[in-house]
Amino acid sequence: MASASISSSFARRLEGKVALIAGGATGIGKATAKLFAQQGARVVIADVQDEHGLAVSNELGGSSIASYIHCDVTSEPDVKNAVDTTVDRYGKLDIMFNNAGIAGSPQWRIIESEKSDFEKVLSINLLGCYLGTKHAARVMIPTQQGSIISTASVASLNPNGAPLAYACSKHAVVALMKSTAIELGKYGIRVNCVSPAGVATPMTTKALGMDEEKVEEFMAKHPALQGVKLKANDVAQAVMYLASDESRFVSGLNLVVDGAFSILSPLDSHFN
Ligand code: NAD
Repeated sequence: MASASISSSFARRLEGKVALIAGGATGIGKATAKLFAQQGARVVIADVQDEHGLAVSNELGGSSIASYIHCDVTSEPDVKNAVDTTVDRYGKLDIMFNNAGIAGSPQWRIIESEKSDFEKVLSINLLGCYLGTKHAARVMIPTQQGSIISTASVASLNPNGAPLAYACSKHAVVALMKSTAIELGKYGIRVNCVSPAGVATPMTTKALGMDEEKVEEFMAKHPALQGVKLKANDVAQAVMYLASDESRFVSGLNLVVDGAFSILSPLDSHFN
């Protein structure tokens, strides 16, 4: 009896589940793909960086566990194909992780901003989540279950100096999540967001023009929580919670992973 309860506490948390990770070739998506596979899920990585995406799927153990598909999340035929291919290859879709995103231009002043940049950022960061949610729901509704997770950001709560288009896109990702959590709940489908603070990934090293170590030092100056550097794997752990049955009654949540950064105010300086 004792050994059965000990072994069940070591059961893999996503055993038997099938996940599609859009934007899974690098950064947070790659860390999540690795964690999902370790925890027993079969994973399809959808991205536009074919070389990186294929390398991740090979690293995870090849086609019985993971595979890669080219998918531009701004293209409805690509997203539809990624979802349908996942179901064809692995029999179902339990977890959709809409994680593809770009920072776009660093511009936060509206008068100096470019319409083309605004459209590009909204197209990848918001339209990508819309299409991923739409096509995941299409195949999840008949099975009356599923977990859809989109990556927003702390910029979904407060722009905090984030580029204008980026902050707009991430606020809208939360609105998409809330609307669809209400609608899809009647089919047993949960919809949530994860909102990380700054993490050293290819997106932030490029946007800030710093190497990973410098990005981490820069980010570590800001949260209330001291002595801990946020890593892509910490975000992956939060995503895994939302993907797993441990969160079976959690829907409509924007899970913030920011060491209390987003609730700090200038008045809190008296704590230092
Ligand atoms: P990243 O650049 O490592 O990952 C983004 C991935 O999205 C890449 O693999 C990229 O190829 C893919 N992608 C970009 N455009 C695409 C498209 N049109 N179609 C398909 N895939 C596309 O950066 P990351 O930091 O891991 O970003 C992942 C998500 O996390 C993004 O949505 C980002 O906005 C969000 N986020 C990042 C941070 C951070 O500090 N790194 C903080 C909050 C939120």
